[in-house]
Amino acid sequence: MTASAPVTQDVLTIPRKLPDGPINLVGLTRDQMRAILIAHGTPEKQARMRVGQIWQWIYQKGIREFDAMTNLSKAYRAELAETFVIALPEVVSRQVSADGTRKYLVRIAGGHEVEVVYIPEEDRGTLCISSQVGCTLTCSFCHTGTQKLVRNLTAGEIVGQVMLARDDLGEWPEPGEGSDARPRLLSNVVLMGMGEPLYNFDAVRDAMKITMDPEGISLSRRRITLSTSGVVPEIARTAEEIGCMLAVSFHATTDEVRDKLVPINKKWPIAELLEALRAYPKASNSERITFEYVMLKGVNDSDQDARRLVDLIRGIPAKINLIPFNEWPGAPYERSDWERIERFADIVYKAGYASPIRTPRGEDIMAACGQLKSATERARKSRAQIAAETGQSV
Ligand code: SAH
Ligand code: SF4
Repeated sequence: MTASAPVTQDVLTIPRKLPDGPINLVGLTRDQMRAILIAHGTPEKQARMRVGQIWQWIYQKGIREFDAMTNLSKAYRAELAETFVIALPEVVSRQVSADGTRKYLVRIAGGHEVEVVYIPEEDRGTLCISSQVGCTLTCSFCHTGTQKLVRNLTAGEIVGQVMLARDDLGEWPEPGEGSDARPRLLSNVVLMGMGEPLYNFDAVRDAMKITMDPEGISLSRRRITLSTSGVVPEIARTAEEIGCMLAVSFHATTDEVRDKLVPINKKWPIAELLEALRAYPKASNSERITFEYVMLKGVNDSDQDARRLVDLIRGIPAKINLIPFNEWPGAPYERSDWERIERFADIVYKAGYASPIRTPRGEDIMAACGQLKSATERARKSRAQIAAETGQSV
């Protein structure tokens, strides 16, 4: 397989404009918004400035009504309100874990659902967002990978997750307050929820550009981490067109084991993946890559694995994030014992790499890594199970 092989995107992307409905401004790039404003009567000369103003209201102040955009004329506000809306996906439910982690079940157009997780820590607050409903990939240890229903999220649905979390955290500035007046509760974004972000590249890129833009959500690119299972041809594009931090779901040190855990490895095996990763830090001007490594008992957690891992990544500025496996109903693996994880971490650390062990967060509400799966899908499964048990058809 060569690096220029086409990327499969066999999932549906819905149009941003529903037939005859108002146009949602959330998620439009600057250029798209400018074009659409001009098409609906905004004078061309003013359009660039209007985009900046509207962006600030939407992404820095959290305003949803055009009428509140007080630096625009009343007539113009009324015109905007006739054609456009500022709409977010709907929060169906919110669960709060004993450790403060919040999980939102979010409904998007078409009635599909995704999950979004907010993880408060002492020095930061990280929002884990989704890029797809479900995932076309079928990593054998991941709950999302068992979900059949898949569709790409739009850019508006992706950046909308950041906005709805800010709503819930009450962190939009008060009227008259500067957008950086208070410390940000939502200070980091990780694309580690449902879906493979690099199989929905354009929407993820557009949403992250809005998230990084100083007139947008205004988070530094160093506070955004995109996690990929290893879509090799899109890694260089990620450096060029997004430039955020990169995490890679590595999880194994031989192609034989990685083929089983992360089946995309059959298409782009370890050697090709490493080649793309070697080029990333320089191309994106980011310090280091995070290698995610899920600890599965007796599968990938031996001393030999740890040594092979450090040999493989030698020369790549890296941090190795060890993730104790999070169980889900019917999962075919077990979490490695704590001593094993520590021993693995020690070998990696002694070879010169930071090797933090990720503390599972929000396990009591099934919010930990790899536990996400739409509730509707779960409900469907359990109805199917009940039917099987009772001998009825679903
Ligand atoms: N699709 C992307 C991003 C989402 S997954 C990717 O695969 O990178 C975010 C991280 O959680 C990945 O490293 C993934 O491999 C890991 N993960 C998935 N299921 C897990 C589980 N059950 N326990 C621990 N980590 C898991
Ligand atoms: Fe998809 Fe990532 Fe889960 Fe693999 S680990 S199935 S790529 S969400």
